[in-house]
Amino acid sequence: MQLFKNQTLKVSNSLTGKKEVFKPIKEGYIGMYVCGPTVYSNVHLGNCRTFMSFDMIFRYFRHLGYKVRYVRNITDAGHLENDADDGEDKIAKKAKLEQLEPMEVVQRYTVDFHETLQKFNFLPPSIEPTATGHIIEQIEIIKEILEKGFAYERNGSVYFDVVKFNETHDYGKLSGRKLEDMIANTRDLAAQDEKRNPQDFALWKKAEAQHIMRWPSPWGDGFPGWHLECTAMSTKYLGENFDIHGGGMDLKFPHHECEIAQAEASNGHSPVNYWLHANMLTLNGKKMSKSTDNNIYPNEIFSGDNNILSKAYAPSVVRFFMLQAHYTSILDLSDDALLASEKGYYRLMDGLKSLADVPTSPTTDFDIKAWQQRCYDAMNDDFNTPILISHLFEAIKHINLIKGGKESISENDKALLQRIFKDFVFEVLGLENPQQSDNNSETLSGVVQLLIQLRNNARANKDFATSDKIRDELAAMGVQLKDGKEGTTFSIN
Ligand code: AMP
Ligand code: ZN
Repeated sequence: MQLFKNQTLKVSNSLTGKKEVFKPIKEGYIGMYVCGPTVYSNVHLGNCRTFMSFDMIFRYFRHLGYKVRYVRNITDAGHLENDADDGEDKIAKKAKLEQLEPMEVVQRYTVDFHETLQKFNFLPPSIEPTATGHIIEQIEIIKEILEKGFAYERNGSVYFDVVKFNETHDYGKLSGRKLEDMIANTRDLAAQDEKRNPQDFALWKKAEAQHIMRWPSPWGDGFPGWHLECTAMSTKYLGENFDIHGGGMDLKFPHHECEIAQAEASNGHSPVNYWLHANMLTLNGKKMSKSTDNNIYPNEIFSGDNNILSKAYAPSVVRFFMLQAHYTSILDLSDDALLASEKGYYRLMDGLKSLADVPTSPTTDFDIKAWQQRCYDAMNDDFNTPILISHLFEAIKHINLIKGGKESISENDKALLQRIFKDFVFEVLGLENPQQSDNNSETLSGVVQLLIQLRNNARANKDFATSDKIRDELAAMGVQLKDGKEGTTFSIN
């Protein structure tokens, strides 16, 4: 592992607009924060793409031997409908609509989020904090910002004073906007608006009588503004200055711009050294989005149950499809593109299978070390997975030539090639071997058959305590036994 740390990695930093050499604050350690989902509905494939981009980045850093603390939050309060400061809280609205407790909504969609990510073979983050679990921390930050004079209270709400902040800081530096232009392009404040300037944003909102998600604060009952939770949680777990902050491009403004302003206003530090933004997944050329209904859900793709799909696709095929594009490029989802990726994915997996069986010779015709470095160079160039994948296919070409007797590989080099393939295909790209899951289900089936046999024996011996225990404990694990004329069969939930 030590060896890999010698790789020099460049990342696209949205803050400078440049590809920069990545240098962690503390040698060997990385702190990375990624904005998580707002859990008021099922995640769509667009959301999955952004989280997958950061899963791949997390995997690569770990592969290089870094100790990564990866924090990805759950937004379970404070995200209002229009991403600005009015409209209803997305979760509260859904709770009213479905006649549920807000926390039931949160639980339902958090479970869906985790189940979906597991199907895609994501690694869990190191910490997954929630906004509602950090209300006290958020209130403390508001107090600090008020103390420093960059916020003001109005009727039980607290707003960040963007104009005041911009006098001594640069509001807009991440998104490349200028406050003067923003002001010039906004209409006058509505008469009832409490804000001093339309660009100001809420740190705390007063809860009206009917608002169900509310917490006590020095300014009365209310709830935190959306941008604040990420400042509170990233600071708490990664410190006032950390290495990487990620999220989808659409979060750059206002969300991330406001995070920078909050951190600089409260503690004087620029919070993040490298801002990384993942690009959008589109459908019919338009951004996949919950609000416009232009989206596909992961389960639809796994079952093929959507008009635009000719068939079902395995999670690893979808993962492969997404990683065939660079994370900073827009990617359009279509059945044709998925079909092509499916072909490519199986070609890669078949190549790996062939590699296991190719005969070895005393010499090797293929410079494996140079090829390995090309794979690293691709990943070191801002995580260029499409180039990495093209290098993997280059090796598959050699494997096929070796298989056909036109090239040769030594025993040691074959083992080396297998190891490098495993590193990149499974560890870094996070793909799964279809054969592996077939093998797993074969093993599981064998184990259940054995338990059915033991249960039959117990029943024949009138040992019903044992036979019932086998049936009930399997059921508790989601394996249902069904006794029929033909014997006992089973199904897995
Ligand atoms: P949300 O749950 O709306 O807060 O979004 C969760 C994450 O998904 C954010 O990082 C968004 O930037 C990202 N996201 C939303 N739509 C898309 C899309 N069409 N493609 C890629 N990422 C998206
Ligand atoms: Zn965030």
